[in-house]
Amino acid sequence: MKITIWGTRGSLPAPSPDNNEFGGNTSCVSVTQGDTLVILDAGSGIRRLGNSMPPGISRIDILLTHLHLDHIMGLGFFLPLYNPNMRVNIWGPTGYKESLFTRLQRYLSPPLFPIRLQDLPSQPQIFEINESSFDIGPFRIKSSYICHPGPTVGFRIENGSAVLTYMPDHEPALGAAHFPHEPAWTSGYELARGADLLLHDAQYTPEEYLPRVGWGHSTMDDALKFAEMAAVKKLLFFHHDPSHTDQQIQHQLHQAMGNKRFPFEVGIAAEGTVFQLPEG
Ligand SMILES: [Zn+2]
Ligand SMILES: [Zn+2]
Repeated sequence: MKITIWGTRGSLPAPSPDNNEFGGNTSCVSVTQGDTLVILDAGSGIRRLGNSMPPGISRIDILLTHLHLDHIMGLGFFLPLYNPNMRVNIWGPTGYKESLFTRLQRYLSPPLFPIRLQDLPSQPQIFEINESSFDIGPFRIKSSYICHPGPTVGFRIENGSAVLTYMPDHEPALGAAHFPHEPAWTSGYELARGADLLLHDAQYTPEEYLPRVGWGHSTMDDALKFAEMAAVKKLLFFHHDPSHTDQQIQHQLHQAMGNKRFPFEVGIAAEGTVFQLPEG
């Protein structure tokens, strides 16, 4: 499967000459295989994806981890939603009270947005997920609730033996009694176990994290501990804080890695990067 990163920022877009390398758009990743296109989150990065759609696509599945604005802000600007011949499915977590449709419509309706969700020419179908397993084309997809404010899921996408795990907003340190020493009881563990590529929240420096415990995000240190516990093969830090420049993110990485060695590859997610995971 081919994985393309369209947006890496958390919370807010951060377009600035100081963050050229890792990008300024909020969370969006596409996963393709043949004519199957799955999109993880609809942050501002989805706009560029919509403008450069691979040919031959007639169905698009958008998988939302949760409905915080940085993960849905690009939806109304995603051109394929205005194509009546495009079949669009939107998948997202079940809420406590209101349906996914009702919650999405809060944003996709006036006065926040001029066009109503139900009036979009592609007439998107809405599917609620929680602890779910489902197939889209060649992909076997698992979703599971993870530790973040409000109903939030992470995703595990399997294609043959290749595994991608996507958890842009996640605070595993709060999702376990003795993090990182209880895999079976740690939020997100089953989704990430043995993944070839893990995209994981690494928004804060340790200093920034202390007054923000419970906000649902991680430090790079916690992302490293989580990746090591889950025995992944490659970890990419994701959901960069909008106030961090390229240089600060690099510094954050050096601080977190120090002289330590990890049994997996570690990198910083950058907008525009493409990864190929062979089916195996
Ligand atoms: Zn977020
Ligand atoms: Zn969030």
